[in-house]
Amino acid sequence: MSSVSGSPAFKALEGDDEVIIGLEVHCQLDTRTKLFCGCSTDYRDDGPNTHVCPICLGLPGSLPAVNRKAVEFALKVAKALNCRVLEESEFSRKNYFYPDLNKGFQISQYDKPLAVEGWLRIEGDNGEKTVRITRVHMEEDPGRLVHKGGADRPKYTLVDYNRAGIPLIEMVTEPDIRSPKEARRFLNKLRATLEYLGVFDSEKEGSLRVDANISIQPRGWFEAHGKGMEGRGRTEIKNISSYKGVEKALTFEITRQKNLIRRGQRLETATRHFVETRGVTTASRSKEMEQDYRYFPEPDLVPLRVSDWCERIVLPELPDARHNRFMEEYGCSYNHARTLTGDLRVAEFYEKVAAVDPRIAATWVADTLLGELNYRDMNIAKVSPSHFIELLQMLREDVITDKSAVEVLRVILDQLAEGCQCEAPSTCVARLNLAKTADDGLDAVIEEVTEEHPQAVEDFHNGRKEALNFLVGQVMRKTRGRVDPGDVNRRLREILSHGGT
Ligand SMILES: [Zn+2]
Repeated sequence: MSSVSGSPAFKALEGDDEVIIGLEVHCQLDTRTKLFCGCSTDYRDDGPNTHVCPICLGLPGSLPAVNRKAVEFALKVAKALNCRVLEESEFSRKNYFYPDLNKGFQISQYDKPLAVEGWLRIEGDNGEKTVRITRVHMEEDPGRLVHKGGADRPKYTLVDYNRAGIPLIEMVTEPDIRSPKEARRFLNKLRATLEYLGVFDSEKEGSLRVDANISIQPRGWFEAHGKGMEGRGRTEIKNISSYKGVEKALTFEITRQKNLIRRGQRLETATRHFVETRGVTTASRSKEMEQDYRYFPEPDLVPLRVSDWCERIVLPELPDARHNRFMEEYGCSYNHARTLTGDLRVAEFYEKVAAVDPRIAATWVADTLLGELNYRDMNIAKVSPSHFIELLQMLREDVITDKSAVEVLRVILDQLAEGCQCEAPSTCVARLNLAKTADDGLDAVIEEVTEEHPQAVEDFHNGRKEALNFLVGQVMRKTRGRVDPGDVNRRLREILSHGGT
């Protein structure tokens, strides 16, 4: 993350320009059945066109019926994003032709969306900030095209309607985001919020897609002119399908737009596509922004009157509340609490292991474990809380040093990464002989080292501090990190001062 937004190209942004970003985020709601029919949404491991029926295939004469659970999920999202739910909202037909859209229209919401005027707090580039949410609406996912023989020049294309009719929620922000990093933080916070609500599973492939609007304007221009004005022109990057992709696409686009501005060229307001494999955006052939979808109310569905229902919905604890609770209940630092609550699975894991010692657990989960998992591109769900508790207990009871604990953790994670059954930490400590050396053992090693390095001992007695550091290093090497450097330092001083040589 930091490598992208910290790239020289991004830092080169001049002081009197600012980046204006707005996002449209589509997330699949994690219901059991589709939005308007009873077909199962669990299609990812099955063959193409096996989760379809006359309704989601759009056959003539079929009638859609709204999935109650999907509406409930959407209302939870609207409430969690502090939106106002409209007293009456309705579904509309968005008409266009594309092979993945079997009906010739998509059932979406247009001028009467489910909810409007919300907000989400995020960690901005200059402290906490509020990103306003323009609207939240529901729609159905189209099918999926499968290009055979390479995506650039496919020999032929197949269509799979298993995805057609999966409930989506679309969330549109005001252009309040000012950098690719803020965009990434907004998405992380949004994902966490949706997962806390139990309405979204970010692990499912293709469950999130983002369109990003971006322009670079003279500082203050946006505040003076507001939304909808052209200014220097803006770009809409369509269909980015990963969190990292959003940050990369925006960073690339900033460089491209800045180069145009520097050369005095006017930026056309246009649609572009992000090519994930190359990390670039390319011009779109179609002028999608100018397309007229001829929206009209869906005649087969009644309007939704759900604002009363929304008021009765009780939300679970959300990330900000859990953040505060972790600080109060477990004494976590602000940053540890933020890291631990930023992902539902991490928060739940921490609560399972915190009983050993909340502070030790916070440091070891937030700093060590997450770093090691990230390095292996591994999910915390793979790690057994009971194994982690065992590791923390050995640390707390001083059986192993910090250094050895990291070694044990790495061994276990490597075993898991290879798909093996992992060892229990205590077994691993015994096998690798990592238990802390007892003090008498330490004295023996110190004696060995002082005998081997009489010059260093003499230097120490002559008041040269670096000689002590050298001797500590030698002892650490011989004990392979099984002792605390602090203990070694203290014991060495004692022996050298009193025992003398
Ligand atoms: Zn169906």
